[in-house]
Amino acid sequence: MPSSPSTNPRTARNILTGLRSIMASRGNAQAKLNQVVDRIAEAVNSEVCSIYLRRDGLLELFATHGLNPEAVHVTKLAMGEGLTGFIAKNVETLNLDEAASHPDFQYRPETGEEKFHSFAGVPIIRNQRAIGVLCAQHVDPRRYSEEEIEAFQTAAMVLSELIGSADLVDDSLIENNNLQDAGADRLSGLQLVKGKASGYAVFHQPRVKIEHTVADDTEAERHRVYSAFDKMRDQIDQMTSQAEFGVAGEHIEVLETYKMFAYDEGWSRRINEAIDSGLTAEAAIERVQQHTRMRMRQIDDPLLAERMHDLEDLANRLLRIVSGQMSTAAQMGLRKDTILIARNLGPAELLEYDRRRLKGLVLEEGSLTAHVTIIARAMGIPILGRVKNIKQFVREDDHLLLNVDENILFVRPSSAMEEAFQAQLELSQKKRETYSALRDQDAVSKDGTRVIVNINAGLRDDMAMLNLTGADGIGLFRTEFQFLVAATLPGRTGQLRFYKDVLEAAGDKPVIFRTVDIGGDKPLPYFQPSDIQEDNPAMGWRALRIGLERDALMKVQARSLIEAAAGKTLNVMFPMVAEPWEFDEARAVFEQQLAFLRSRKKQLPLKLRYGAMLEVPALAECLDVLAPRLDFLSIGTNDLTQFLFAADRSNPKLAERFDWLSPAILRFLKRISDTAARLDIDLSVCGEMGGRPLDALALIGLGIRNLSITPASVGPIKAMIRSVDVSEAAALLDNVLAEAPANPRDIISNWAKAHNVDVG
Ligand code: PEP
Ligand code: MG
Repeated sequence: MPSSPSTNPRTARNILTGLRSIMASRGNAQAKLNQVVDRIAEAVNSEVCSIYLRRDGLLELFATHGLNPEAVHVTKLAMGEGLTGFIAKNVETLNLDEAASHPDFQYRPETGEEKFHSFAGVPIIRNQRAIGVLCAQHVDPRRYSEEEIEAFQTAAMVLSELIGSADLVDDSLIENNNLQDAGADRLSGLQLVKGKASGYAVFHQPRVKIEHTVADDTEAERHRVYSAFDKMRDQIDQMTSQAEFGVAGEHIEVLETYKMFAYDEGWSRRINEAIDSGLTAEAAIERVQQHTRMRMRQIDDPLLAERMHDLEDLANRLLRIVSGQMSTAAQMGLRKDTILIARNLGPAELLEYDRRRLKGLVLEEGSLTAHVTIIARAMGIPILGRVKNIKQFVREDDHLLLNVDENILFVRPSSAMEEAFQAQLELSQKKRETYSALRDQDAVSKDGTRVIVNINAGLRDDMAMLNLTGADGIGLFRTEFQFLVAATLPGRTGQLRFYKDVLEAAGDKPVIFRTVDIGGDKPLPYFQPSDIQEDNPAMGWRALRIGLERDALMKVQARSLIEAAAGKTLNVMFPMVAEPWEFDEARAVFEQQLAFLRSRKKQLPLKLRYGAMLEVPALAECLDVLAPRLDFLSIGTNDLTQFLFAADRSNPKLAERFDWLSPAILRFLKRISDTAARLDIDLSVCGEMGGRPLDALALIGLGIRNLSITPASVGPIKAMIRSVDVSEAAALLDNVLAEAPANPRDIISNWAKAHNVDVG
């Protein structure tokens, strides 16, 4: 963070004291405003000081010291017009020694301002929008000092509070303007979960509204800020030490920057100085933030802009601590259709939201196979990821139209945009209806090959999808989701009841239960078993590695599953098996529990089938060793590809780097598919790759005949299978594998078009 020279808080304090006495004085609002501009002009020794406020969508000159008084209530500027309009539109501070040098400069002859050279202006902000502008002008081409700019910012904050409390002007004038449309914006990002939604912006960590700007007791405010800094530093330290589990979805790099800022002495010193000038702790944090924002913009360095983003997050965190407004939007409850905005989210955080009201998610980070994305996909919540600087464009409660199918987010849409969006929604609805017509149709290719289409599940509500989609069964039941939504480690009775319900809901259809896969990007807040620091948690102590070492956890789960499946077939699958002995040990835990229950004369499952996930590449080399003891094998392409490419699946920087349709992955999968066929292993694919029509087409071409996918993909995947000739797809893939072209996705996509294969 660039440090600003230490400032003397006297000027700001002078202004604050002045404003206070003006407010306490008698007189009408106009007279008070006139006194305010006189006082500020005097305090900063400026020839001009003016206040513009928004009325009917325009910035109107409400009071001036130094400009032609006749111009008051006559001079009006549109948002974005001239320097004043620029400040209001961009909610940005300007400090220019030569106003005419700015590209947006315009002058209004009725004000008599042509003789003034220097210009400084700050936005008067309420609810993150500019409701006016406070500006100063001077004949000499001099730049206003840091101290003076800070004094303006302080004055603007107090003015905003006074306007808010209707002490200064008739609040109703401003209020209407405040809600005025700030103009539509269109942002783009990375498609994480397809879909469309209309709703209102809610920030996962809501911005704090500053109610009071002027402090009654400066010492008390200083203490509040001190203890907030202590708390914040503790929080950041704790988050950094838990970062190997990706707690709260924060990325390690972000945490490091947080830490740097959290301990930055310059930052805390400037906040203290702002408090010295008479501001409350909240107002001081905000004012310093405004000032830093201005300085960062002047530097115009993209790297610093990124850092600014981190500092904004941190300043908001500090504000939340100091004001005691710590809840997330989930804890405060959603009141209407919501499009949630967050930097990133952990899976458990997403699950805290009310599914009926949460219509979409926009992330500044995010990646395709992070678990939060997988859960949102299962919940049918569209996600647009990697949307840059969203906080600059979107304010709380803005109307948003999210169209992830086309990677667009419309902010404050015009009515024409809304109409077009509605038309698109209807089209998608029609498409969905076509897909649901396939519900009772089997996935059989044009040349008669039957492909099993299962769904992935993990939550109780997912069970309804089995019937809705007409899927063949559940190919991956992520049992850890139940652990993620619980406040404490689920016990045996709870698990037993839950698994029973799942099997009952599935009826005759098979369910493959995967034993808990915790760790990596699925940390359990109440179970942080690692006593070592893990730099690479995805490759660390997770899944079966935890299960085998903490075998009490696994025993409880084994016993619950066996009891739940009494009289039925139980399919269990172990995650992250790297070597055959791990599978054998896991299996032994189940066999032990089986023997125990048998000795107790409990009713047992009719059959117990054991499977392994192939997601660690090493296992592919030992399939022959494992095959005699294996009932089935499921390829987890999410983890498998992250290990093949050495590319963290939840690292947003790598989100777009590698493609599932790369020759390396396709060749690897082909080898497994051929080996499984040779060894007569029942093989499926249960990663996200299988739910994307073009990628699934490639899998079919590689010989895969069993897919387990997210429920929303069942229709599109069945449509693809029913329109493809499997032998032709196999020939295509043979070619792709042999030639290893640079762009297999384009080749497969063009082929699909030419062969009328429905890939969505
Ligand atoms: C996978 O890794 O592909 C998989 C299906 O498991 P998960 O996404 O839960 O890690
Ligand atoms: Mg996995």
